[in-house]
Amino acid sequence: MYPSIWKSILKEFYALKVQGIDIFSHCKIMIGNGLCTRFWIDRWLDNTSLADSFPRLFALETDIDISVAAKLQSIVASFRRSVRGGVEDHQFQQLVSMLDSVILSSTNDRWICDLNGDTIFRVKDIRNLLDEFFLPKVNVPTRWVNVVPIKINIFAWKLALDRLPTRANLALRGVVSDPLSCPICESHVEDSSHLFFNCSLAKDVKSLVCRWWNVGVPNFTSYVEWLVWFNTIRLGSKPKIILEGIFYVTWWSLWTYRNQYLFASKKPRKDAIFDDIALRSFCWCNARGSFKFKWDSWLQHPFLISL
Ligand SMILES: [Zn+2]
Repeated sequence: MYPSIWKSILKEFYALKVQGIDIFSHCKIMIGNGLCTRFWIDRWLDNTSLADSFPRLFALETDIDISVAAKLQSIVASFRRSVRGGVEDHQFQQLVSMLDSVILSSTNDRWICDLNGDTIFRVKDIRNLLDEFFLPKVNVPTRWVNVVPIKINIFAWKLALDRLPTRANLALRGVVSDPLSCPICESHVEDSSHLFFNCSLAKDVKSLVCRWWNVGVPNFTSYVEWLVWFNTIRLGSKPKIILEGIFYVTWWSLWTYRNQYLFASKKPRKDAIFDDIALRSFCWCNARGSFKFKWDSWLQHPFLISL
């Protein structure tokens, strides 16, 4: 026997259903002439089959595979006996009123997909459905800061999702084994919380940035904690956007430093990191923002500049 592609697809659908994704529920029948659709078994009128919705009437049926077309000619003709009062009659009245709106046409019955507005089945929609289900949920919204370049925003976004190729993440994917320790301090596993928030270098740079901006020296130890702290800072909206951009630049500078430390022939200078952050963010903010700073006031009182 040859393997059938449809059999394989159905097998996958059933496997996904066990995991909680019911693709069948997104595939519906658009009724045409009603000849190829089973009245009781197929889900053509509602999200559930009529057999499930009207069990007492289904129990009266003598032809359980009867088509929609045949049944609509006479609902009661294939019943083993007439409908009696009580629950049976109640279900019967309900069914009749539901069928009132059904109008058969001359076209064939066809399958449609309800994952998009135009009812056409697309692999892309299924893929999105699976991604939504299987990819880790992130509570951090995408934050775009327009005063720094897109590459810096993307970098910060990857940090928020913990998708940077730190040694801990590479080990998780089986890319590297030992050593996993931070190349800068060699005292801790190099994961993103350590590298950008807890490493002695990251803490030193954070202190300089926070003093520069007169926002105290907070003790955040991860991206999430940084976000909580950042949301509570009292600053005007534009200076706050600039400060967010400066944090992005800070993380990017720490990552650049780490890469040079690991891979460049000449070791980078620690004491140049802060100057580099101040200069880069000055150039980017002046080039991209709708405001202009002077270098001296940028260095001394950036948070006081009225925007
Ligand atoms: Zn370290």
